[in-house]
Amino acid sequence: MNYQLIRSKRKTLSLQINNNAELVVRAPNRLSVEKIEQFIDKKHDWINKKSESIQSKKIQKTSYIEGEKFLYLGNRYPLNINSKNPKKLAFNGNTFSLHSGGKEEFLAWYKAAFKKIALPRLEYYAKNHKFNYNQVRLKSQKTLWGSCSGSNNINLNYLLICAPIAVVDYVIVHELCHTVHKNHSKDFWSLVEKILPNYKTNKSWLKDNGYKLHNL
Ligand SMILES: [Zn+2]
Repeated sequence: MNYQLIRSKRKTLSLQINNNAELVVRAPNRLSVEKIEQFIDKKHDWINKKSESIQSKKIQKTSYIEGEKFLYLGNRYPLNINSKNPKKLAFNGNTFSLHSGGKEEFLAWYKAAFKKIALPRLEYYAKNHKFNYNQVRLKSQKTLWGSCSGSNNINLNYLLICAPIAVVDYVIVHELCHTVHKNHSKDFWSLVEKILPNYKTNKSWLKDNGYKLHNL
């Protein structure tokens, strides 16, 4: 089995499977390779299980070809390549139609869709539950779905528009609740729950499926 060995002053051995499904071993400076490999042997089942689950999450790279499917509000719609298309990228409710290009066109389309669909929901929840926020910025970070600063500026990841609308609502309400509670305390979560009694389902949807939203 191949592995990457990182030695340091640490006292114990640790195994980790990184995002490329490779085994990373952290070991004390003086521990023999034999001992290290014995340890790896013993953890064989765990390593396989873990690396398979990471492999299965590595989905195919997007190539913007005819028939390839793209997410929007939790559903997947096929792509049609059409050089006669007057717009760079259009959506008719069933199909995406792309004039040319790919990633940039989808990012722009998703951002515009987020503005149209999600921002009014932010305003709705803020108004109905009396939340005050300053600015809203849209981003497409890999690691963050939303954030709320100390001065109540809210950042939202517009790729959320690929997720079911209930998931979009969950992130919006989550960030709005941070205008009141700057932490993830009990009070914070009970405020989220008061507004969205089913929030847990959508929170775990994002945890399990979030990686699919930025596969562009
Ligand atoms: Zn939070």
